[in-house]
Amino acid sequence: MDLVVLGVDGVSPDYLEEALEKYDMPGWEKLRDEAFYSDLESCVPAVTIPAWVSMFSGYDAGKFGAFHLTQPDFDSWETGLRKTSFPNTFFWDRIKGRSSLHNIPGTSPVYKIDGWMKGGFPSPHDFDFYPEELEQEMNEKFNLEKKDKRKNTLGAKIEAEFENYELERKVADEIMEKDARVSVSVIKMTDTIGHITESKGNILRAYRKTDDAVQKALEKAEGENANLIVASDHGFFRVKKKFNIVSFLAENDLIDVEKAEGETSLAYRLAEPLLDTPIKKYLRKLHVAYSSFTGNRLDGKSGNYLSNIKKSSTVIPYHKGLGKDCLLKIHTEDMKHGTVTESKKEEIVDTVIEKLRNVERNGEKVIEKVWRGDELYTGESPEIAFRTTDKYVVGTTNAHRNFSKTNALTHHETGIFFAKGPNIHEEADEELEDLFDVAPLI
Ligand SMILES: [Zn+2]
Repeated sequence: MDLVVLGVDGVSPDYLEEALEKYDMPGWEKLRDEAFYSDLESCVPAVTIPAWVSMFSGYDAGKFGAFHLTQPDFDSWETGLRKTSFPNTFFWDRIKGRSSLHNIPGTSPVYKIDGWMKGGFPSPHDFDFYPEELEQEMNEKFNLEKKDKRKNTLGAKIEAEFENYELERKVADEIMEKDARVSVSVIKMTDTIGHITESKGNILRAYRKTDDAVQKALEKAEGENANLIVASDHGFFRVKKKFNIVSFLAENDLIDVEKAEGETSLAYRLAEPLLDTPIKKYLRKLHVAYSSFTGNRLDGKSGNYLSNIKKSSTVIPYHKGLGKDCLLKIHTEDMKHGTVTESKKEEIVDTVIEKLRNVERNGEKVIEKVWRGDELYTGESPEIAFRTTDKYVVGTTNAHRNFSKTNALTHHETGIFFAKGPNIHEEADEELEDLFDVAPLI
């Protein structure tokens, strides 16, 4: 074996440090003491699918064609389907020798490789293996029947997630035992616990659970004199303020929106003023219970963020709000409902970029960076991308104000990167510190 990679989705350097102080985590401690470490800066946007796929391919999102977790369909005016599989895109598709791959985002449905693969998340299937014999083998060893994942309480959701994690690690250990040149496994649980609980305490518990996997990865790499990389695709952070891009664009006559009223249920409107208070925690529990019984959300959101944006709009967010990053699409006439002419497009891009750079709140900048799409991506891409400062996240719902309060634990662009092994040299440390993209290193 030449390389062992353990991916830990959404693991943040600061929370990892806290977990290490709070709990006994011998695997992570050994890694911290012996491996090269650097913070890892994620791609734009710092979300799971583009981040892992670019990390393991060396390509940008424009090249593999997935800028976010979902892709909008501007013909049907719906959020659109998830692109979840990127066959023959990754570094293991370009090397000689076998690979054993487990749970890597962007590999479900699985595809033919020289080696073994269990498909990653998000996935249209619960258990998705290549080759078929691997599925048979895993089914004989473990009870892989599909379970009803809907749980009525947050506590039950967390326990189900942890239980599923234990099973996943057993499957991972078996796949990692295969005689391969490269072995990659990604842990999703760390990210899922962050999203479903939005609580630091639960995140630290989740990190602690990964210690066995880190120990095993260390042992495997050492035993086979292989290189080891442990990395995350992005981090998490707590944020209290939201910059609402839809209302900002509306104020500048760049987007047309339906009235915000009526988009939410009565229950949600009654509860809304309480969302900035500690009661939010209990409302969240209530919401989990309500949605698992009824299948509906209390806030009445359909999941289609385009539903209250009118087709006459000039500039449209490319995805639902998640974290600090946002992509914007100019609604050009080559699109089904678009009207912006090619000659007008550049003018609009310049105007929006200028306006975004100057957004201020209480005398402070709100937007940290603004890019033109072609600075970040090759090929067809949204024309504008921006990232807020650490005080804000981006909201894409039809809010009444440009700024609102929130209390979210959400994605941050800073992740972790550990490397250890025969090909990781001290002299390379300085170069590694500027690392933006892992694939060329691998
Ligand atoms: Zn992620």
